[in-house]
Amino acid sequence: GGAAEPPPRLVLDLEQLQQVPTEEAAPLQRYAATIQSQRGDYNGKVLSIRQDDLRTLAVIYDQSPSVLTEKLISWGVLNPDARRAVDQQKS
Ligand code: C2E
Ligand code: C2E
Ligand code: C2E
Repeated sequence: GGAAEPPPRLVLDLEQLQQVPTEEAAPLQRYAATIQSQRGDYNGKVLSIRQDDLRTLAVIYDQSPSVLTEKLISWGVLNPDARRAVDQQKS
């Protein structure tokens, strides 16, 4: 991708995350809870995460970042604009 354009923010919808069936959502729920705890950021309805965290989550879910991104978007947990972050990482 071009270096001039800033990567999109990755924003998790924490309320929507509570609606996702637990088995699938549990690793992401634990990960988000850990970040909230590390930041002391407990009151948010959303949580901005690092680009690197999406790659880490892809390892946790044993899926490619792009497949995981589509899954999280289909759950309504991740902003659709996040697709651009994964596209940029490919090149
Ligand atoms: P750290 O990575 O050593 O960051 C120390 C502090 O630098 C953070 O304290 C925060 O005030 C600031 N900081 C670092 N990177 C960023 C950033 O990209 N944006 C903003 N706005 N501030 C940044 P904080 O928030 O209390 O976090 C404490 C520690 O918790 C961090 O130490 C890191 O180890 C972990 N952490 C917090 N949020 C995340 C996250 O989203 N992903 C990961 N992987 N670790 C996180
Ligand atoms: P934004 O990034 O579009 O975020 C809009 C609102 O979403 C934020 O309003 C906040 O209520 C919520 N939000 C987003 N990410 C998080 C998160 O990780 N934790 C929590 N608890 N809430 C989150 P807010 O706080 O009034 O911020 C307004 C705008 O100010 C943000 O718009 C952003 O443009 C800027 N801003 C706030 N904090 C930071 C920051 O740490 N780094 C940078 N670069 N900008 C920030
Ligand atoms: P942001 O605060 O607007 O930061 C945007 C980007 O600037 C970050 O993207 C990172 O590349 C860089 N950046 C900002 N502060 C620091 C820093 O202290 N150290 C380093 N090495 N880089 C920094 P990134 O990592 O993808 O993070 C995206 C967003 O996730 C951040 O937007 C912030 O809202 C949140 N975030 C990430 N890490 C932390 C953290 O440790 N603490 C807090 N409170 N928020 C974080």
